[in-house]
Amino acid sequence: MTIKTVGIIGGGQLARMLALAGIPLGYKFIFLDTYAECPAGDLGEVILAQYDDQEKLIELANRCDVLTFDFENVPASALNEIVKQVSFHPSAEALKTAQDRLSEKTLFQELGISTPEFLNIESNDDIEKAKDFPFPAILKTRRFGYDGKGQVRISSSTELIEAWNELGNTACLLEGFVKFDFEVSQVAVRDVKGNIEFYPLTENRHENGILIESNAPYVNSVLESLAQTFTKNLLEHFDYVGVLAIEFFVNGNSLIINEMAPRVHNSGHWTIEGTLSSQFENHIRAITGLPLGDTFAICKAKMINCLGEMPNREESLKDASAHYHDYAKEPRPGRKVGHITYLSKL
Ligand code: AMP
Repeated sequence: MTIKTVGIIGGGQLARMLALAGIPLGYKFIFLDTYAECPAGDLGEVILAQYDDQEKLIELANRCDVLTFDFENVPASALNEIVKQVSFHPSAEALKTAQDRLSEKTLFQELGISTPEFLNIESNDDIEKAKDFPFPAILKTRRFGYDGKGQVRISSSTELIEAWNELGNTACLLEGFVKFDFEVSQVAVRDVKGNIEFYPLTENRHENGILIESNAPYVNSVLESLAQTFTKNLLEHFDYVGVLAIEFFVNGNSLIINEMAPRVHNSGHWTIEGTLSSQFENHIRAITGLPLGDTFAICKAKMINCLGEMPNREESLKDASAHYHDYAKEPRPGRKVGHITYLSKL
């Protein structure tokens, strides 16, 4: 089948950058979003709907040749019908697993990937069981957490009940606090034939749970080889098609997994200018059945997230190495509204 139209559930900045990469390949884009003025709206039609609106999801499926999504919190149950009607990548199974920190961490352990210690917290009995848990720790909601939201740091078991109340007594995961040297992420892509390309590792800096800066490529052959093995295991487990991002804590020569994102990722934005084929282009290539593009770095890149509001464009571009990305979002404190990537020679 010749693919003409790509549908994306979600019309945020990731959908916007996917379309910016996919339009030159000759594809049209349709987005489903709750907001008509969403960042991707400049690049294609937006079907206005809630993400669990079956009728609108089916309309999107009927009008597109392949579907993907730009954020994890698409209700997996809403996808049951549409996956029967249209090719849907990455698999709904990967999405479902990533939506629940408990299923995600359980799978990581099954695949032999080191995780922080964790304990499921769903009841007062579980709180009781946590008495022997090694603190300090972080209590995280199992679902719907992003950018550090839905997380409370706790230093001892006596603070646990208060933290659980603060999170609305919803199902949570108690995670041991990892003393890490720094954080890296591995972005990789797998095509429909099972070929895999890995991007170089990216070193990431977070503040209050939000990514603020990425530097790449981070070169360390021991960590690269570990990250690639873990990522390959996950890609093959899901028979995955598209881009997958994995976040790790680095401790000496070992990697402890934090989480996976079954989509293009903020820590991969530097690949737009910094590699031969960006994560966005390769995601579109993979899901539309095209051969993958090379993922090697052609320069060094520093990506800075713009939070709250965009810095002045003229001022920013006085640095000739800067690449300015405005997501066309309304300014709001703490909101990711864009990023700037600075390039330098390898
Ligand atoms: P998350 O939303 O789970 O990716 O967490 C956001 C950020 O919070 C991570 O990138 C880390 O900087 C920090 N963080 C999350 N979990 C842990 C942990 N178990 N130990 C130490 N730091 C953590």
